Amino acid sequence: MKVGVLSLQGAIEEHLKMIKRCGFEGIKVKTVGDLENVDRLIIPGGESTAIGKLAKIYGLDREIVKKGREGMPIFGTCAGMILLANKVVGNEQIRFNLIDIVVERNAFGRQVDSFEVELKIKDFNGKPFKAVFIRAPYIKEAGKEVKILAEFRGKIVMAQQKNILVSSFHPELTEDLRVHKYFLSENY
Ligand code: GLN
Repeated sequence: MKVGVLSLQGAIEEHLKMIKRCGFEGIKVKTVGDLENVDRLIIPGGESTAIGKLAKIYGLDREIVKKGREGMPIFGTCAGMILLANKVVGNEQIRFNLIDIVVERNAFGRQVDSFEVELKIKDFNGKPFKAVFIRAPYIKEAGKEVKILAEFRGKIVMAQQKNILVSSFHPELTEDLRVHKYFLSENY
């Protein structure tokens, strides 16, 4: 299985490393042709407005929407989650409308408020997941098709709707492979 990482801006290498550690081939996706060549896609953290604008310039926005609607598994972390959302509070920025959530950006505070927490993720047995939040968004509202996988201080920070998975935090910045393994598992 080939796993693409949208490589326009943001935490790209970290995801590629995690994919490799999970035993799969990671591929940088910069063009529509690259996207054709992968089975799953990760949209990394970074700056969601910048990634959205670049995706549009390269014609990747429409293709990602098409693949997502066709059922390709797509995982968005942080800025990636913002890009996959149906709605962003107070902002009409470019996004892919692939998951029925309303997202609030920078919702836990600015850069100085980056933090780590021990997070309990639904159906993840064993120890909690060390979640790194950096200028993180959270999910303000989720439609009834959306499965809530984790909450922190009463806010939704990880969710899934069919083939689309999102997290407010950065699982690629830890040594724990469980979130990537979940996304890359056979029956996902
Ligand atoms: N605050 C960024 C945004 O709104 C996301 C931060 C991140 O991806 N670490 O795009």
